[in-house]
Amino acid sequence: LKETDPTGATTNPYGTSKYMIEQILHDLYTSDNTFKIAILRYFNPVGAHESGTIGEDPNGIPNNLMPFISQTAVGKRECLSVFGGDYDTKDGTGVRDYIHVIDLANAHVKAIDYIHSKQFSIQRSTFNIGTGIGYSVLQMIQAFEQASSKKVLYKIVQRRAGDIAICYADASLALDTLNWKGTKT
Ligand code: UDP
Repeated sequence: LKETDPTGATTNPYGTSKYMIEQILHDLYTSDNTFKIAILRYFNPVGAHESGTIGEDPNGIPNNLMPFISQTAVGKRECLSVFGGDYDTKDGTGVRDYIHVIDLANAHVKAIDYIHSKQFSIQRSTFNIGTGIGYSVLQMIQAFEQASSKKVLYKIVQRRAGDIAICYADASLALDTLNWKGTKT
Protein backbone atom coordinates (compact mmCIF):
# COMPACT_ATOMS: atom_id res chain seq x y z
CA LEU A 1 0.00 0.00 0.00
CA LYS A 2 1.11 3.51 -0.82
CA GLU A 3 -0.14 6.64 0.92
CA THR A 4 -1.69 7.75 -2.37
CA ASP A 5 -3.89 4.66 -2.68
CA PRO A 6 -7.63 5.39 -2.46
CA THR A 7 -9.13 5.63 1.04
CA GLY A 8 -12.71 5.67 2.33
CA ALA A 9 -15.35 3.05 1.55
CA THR A 10 -14.44 1.56 4.91
CA THR A 11 -15.84 -1.83 5.86
CA ASN A 12 -15.89 -1.55 9.67
CA PRO A 13 -16.39 1.14 12.36
CA TYR A 14 -12.76 0.92 13.49
CA GLY A 15 -11.55 1.74 9.99
CA THR A 16 -14.20 4.43 9.66
CA SER A 17 -12.99 6.12 12.86
CA LYS A 18 -9.43 6.26 11.49
CA TYR A 19 -10.64 7.65 8.19
CA MET A 20 -12.73 10.32 9.96
CA ILE A 21 -9.81 11.41 12.11
CA GLU A 22 -7.61 11.88 9.04
CA GLN A 23 -10.34 14.15 7.62
CA ILE A 24 -10.65 16.09 10.88
CA LEU A 25 -6.88 16.70 10.95
CA HIS A 26 -6.90 17.96 7.37
CA ASP A 27 -9.90 20.20 8.10
CA LEU A 28 -8.10 21.59 11.13
CA TYR A 29 -5.04 22.43 9.06
CA THR A 30 -7.21 24.03 6.35
CA SER A 31 -8.99 26.19 8.93
CA ASP A 32 -5.75 27.33 10.59
CA ASN A 33 -2.40 26.35 9.14
CA THR A 34 -0.52 27.34 12.26
CA PHE A 35 -1.55 23.84 13.28
CA LYS A 36 0.91 21.34 11.83
CA ILE A 37 -0.27 17.79 11.35
CA ALA A 38 1.27 14.43 10.60
CA ILE A 39 -0.68 11.24 10.08
CA LEU A 40 1.07 7.96 10.79
CA ARG A 41 -0.66 4.94 9.32
CA TYR A 42 0.36 2.08 11.57
CA PHE A 43 0.53 -1.33 9.98
CA ASN A 44 0.55 -4.20 12.53
CA PRO A 45 2.27 -3.06 15.74
CA VAL A 46 3.81 -5.86 17.80
CA GLY A 47 6.38 -6.42 20.52
CA ALA A 48 7.36 -4.80 23.76
CA HIS A 49 9.95 -2.53 25.30
CA GLU A 50 13.10 -4.54 25.97
CA SER A 51 12.77 -3.82 29.71
CA GLY A 52 9.59 -5.88 29.67
CA THR A 53 7.83 -3.19 31.70
CA ILE A 54 5.71 -2.08 28.75
CA GLY A 55 4.24 -4.61 26.39
CA GLU A 56 1.11 -6.11 24.98
CA ASP A 57 -0.77 -8.28 27.48
CA PRO A 58 -4.44 -7.58 26.96
CA ASN A 59 -7.21 -8.66 29.34
CA GLY A 60 -9.76 -11.10 27.94
CA ILE A 61 -9.46 -12.94 24.67
CA PRO A 62 -7.08 -11.11 22.33
CA ASN A 63 -8.34 -10.12 18.89
CA ASN A 64 -4.88 -9.64 17.43
CA LEU A 65 -2.50 -12.34 16.34
CA MET A 66 0.58 -11.56 18.39
CA PRO A 67 -0.96 -11.49 21.89
CA PHE A 68 -2.91 -14.63 20.99
CA ILE A 69 0.34 -16.37 20.04
CA SER A 70 2.06 -15.32 23.27
CA GLN A 71 -0.91 -16.30 25.44
CA THR A 72 -0.95 -19.71 23.73
CA ALA A 73 2.79 -20.11 24.26
CA VAL A 74 2.49 -19.48 28.01
CA GLY A 75 -0.45 -21.86 28.29
CA LYS A 76 -3.15 -19.26 28.92
CA ARG A 77 -4.92 -20.35 25.71
CA GLU A 78 -5.08 -23.89 24.48
CA CYS A 79 -4.80 -23.36 20.77
CA LEU A 80 -4.47 -20.54 18.28
CA SER A 81 -7.06 -20.40 15.52
CA VAL A 82 -5.46 -19.46 12.22
CA PHE A 83 -8.15 -17.65 10.26
CA GLY A 84 -8.01 -19.18 6.81
CA GLY A 85 -5.51 -21.45 5.12
CA ASP A 86 -6.69 -20.93 1.57
CA TYR A 87 -5.64 -17.38 0.77
CA ASP A 88 -3.64 -16.71 -2.34
CA THR A 89 -0.39 -16.32 -0.37
CA LYS A 90 2.85 -18.30 -0.03
CA ASP A 91 1.39 -20.76 2.53
CA GLY A 92 -2.32 -19.94 2.33
CA THR A 93 -2.43 -17.82 5.50
CA GLY A 94 -2.84 -14.04 5.72
CA VAL A 95 0.19 -11.80 5.22
CA ARG A 96 0.74 -8.62 7.25
CA ASP A 97 3.44 -6.05 7.91
CA TYR A 98 4.41 -6.39 11.59
CA ILE A 99 6.11 -3.30 12.97
CA HIS A 100 7.90 -3.28 16.32
CA VAL A 101 6.49 -0.79 18.84
CA ILE A 102 9.92 0.78 19.47
CA ASP A 103 10.34 1.51 15.76
CA LEU A 104 6.80 2.88 15.83
CA ALA A 105 7.61 5.11 18.79
CA ASN A 106 10.69 6.43 16.97
CA ALA A 107 8.52 7.30 13.97
CA HIS A 108 6.52 9.63 16.23
CA VAL A 109 9.67 11.39 17.41
CA LYS A 110 10.80 11.87 13.80
CA ALA A 111 7.32 13.10 12.81
CA ILE A 112 7.28 15.69 15.61
CA ASP A 113 10.69 16.97 14.49
CA TYR A 114 9.42 17.11 10.93
CA ILE A 115 6.23 19.11 11.61
CA HIS A 116 8.30 21.76 13.41
CA SER A 117 10.85 21.96 10.58
CA LYS A 118 10.97 24.20 7.50
CA GLN A 119 10.60 21.06 5.37
CA PHE A 120 7.02 20.49 6.57
CA SER A 121 4.53 20.27 3.73
CA ILE A 122 0.87 19.29 3.98
CA GLN A 123 1.34 17.36 0.73
CA ARG A 124 3.83 15.16 2.56
CA SER A 125 2.19 14.70 5.94
CA THR A 126 0.66 11.23 5.75
CA PHE A 127 3.06 8.34 6.22
CA ASN A 128 2.87 4.58 6.09
CA ILE A 129 4.65 3.17 9.14
CA GLY A 130 5.57 -0.41 8.39
CA THR A 131 8.62 -2.46 7.52
CA GLY A 132 7.71 -3.01 3.89
CA ILE A 133 7.88 -6.77 4.42
CA GLY A 134 4.91 -9.10 4.79
CA TYR A 135 4.93 -12.25 6.89
CA SER A 136 2.28 -14.95 6.97
CA VAL A 137 0.52 -16.17 10.11
CA LEU A 138 2.47 -19.45 9.93
CA GLN A 139 5.76 -17.57 9.59
CA MET A 140 4.85 -15.55 12.68
CA ILE A 141 4.13 -18.74 14.64
CA GLN A 142 7.44 -20.30 13.52
CA ALA A 143 9.42 -17.18 14.39
CA PHE A 144 7.80 -17.02 17.82
CA GLU A 145 8.51 -20.70 18.49
CA GLN A 146 12.14 -20.27 17.48
CA ALA A 147 12.67 -17.14 19.61
CA SER A 148 10.88 -18.46 22.70
CA SER A 149 11.63 -22.21 22.47
CA LYS A 150 7.92 -22.78 23.16
CA LYS A 151 5.46 -24.70 21.07
CA VAL A 152 2.42 -22.80 19.82
CA LEU A 153 -0.47 -25.14 19.10
CA TYR A 154 -2.65 -23.98 16.24
CA LYS A 155 -5.43 -25.14 13.98
CA ILE A 156 -6.51 -23.72 10.65
CA VAL A 157 -10.13 -22.56 10.78
CA GLN A 158 -12.52 -20.53 8.62
CA ARG A 159 -11.50 -17.13 7.31
CA ARG A 160 -12.45 -14.20 9.54
CA ALA A 161 -15.00 -11.82 8.02
CA GLY A 162 -13.44 -8.61 6.77
CA ASP A 163 -9.87 -9.95 6.50
CA ILE A 164 -7.90 -9.50 3.32
CA ALA A 165 -5.12 -11.79 2.05
CA ILE A 166 -2.13 -9.46 1.99
CA CYS A 167 -1.39 -6.05 3.44
CA TYR A 168 2.06 -4.45 3.70
CA ALA A 169 3.46 -0.97 3.52
CA ASP A 170 5.42 0.93 0.98
CA ALA A 171 7.20 3.00 3.62
CA SER A 172 9.52 4.88 1.26
CA LEU A 173 7.88 8.26 1.92
CA ALA A 174 8.69 7.97 5.63
CA LEU A 175 12.28 7.13 4.74
CA ASP A 176 12.65 10.01 2.28
CA THR A 177 10.80 12.63 4.34
CA LEU A 178 11.27 11.66 8.00
CA ASN A 179 14.50 9.71 7.58
CA TRP A 180 12.69 6.86 9.38
CA LYS A 181 12.63 3.18 8.71
CA GLY A 182 11.80 0.07 10.71
CA THR A 183 14.94 -1.56 12.08
CA LYS A 184 13.59 -4.67 13.81
CA THR A 185 12.51 -7.76 11.90
N1 UDP B 1 -5.10 -13.95 12.84
C1 UDP B 1 -5.28 -15.31 13.07
N2 UDP B 1 -5.70 -15.71 14.30
C2 UDP B 1 -5.96 -14.84 15.32
C3 UDP B 1 -5.78 -13.46 15.09
C4 UDP B 1 -5.36 -13.05 13.84
O1 UDP B 1 -5.05 -16.13 12.16
O2 UDP B 1 -6.36 -15.29 16.42
C5 UDP B 1 -4.60 -13.49 11.53
C6 UDP B 1 -5.54 -12.56 10.79
O3 UDP B 1 -6.47 -13.30 10.01
C7 UDP B 1 -4.54 -11.74 9.95
C8 UDP B 1 -3.32 -11.66 10.85
O4 UDP B 1 -3.42 -12.75 11.76
O5 UDP B 1 -4.18 -12.46 8.78
C9 UDP B 1 -3.23 -10.36 11.65
O6 UDP B 1 -4.46 -10.14 12.30
P1 UDP B 1 -4.64 -9.04 13.43
O7 UDP B 1 -6.04 -9.16 13.98
O8 UDP B 1 -3.52 -9.13 14.43
O9 UDP B 1 -4.45 -7.65 12.68
P2 UDP B 1 -5.21 -7.02 11.40
O10 UDP B 1 -4.29 -7.27 10.23
O11 UDP B 1 -6.54 -7.68 11.28
O12 UDP B 1 -5.31 -5.57 11.73
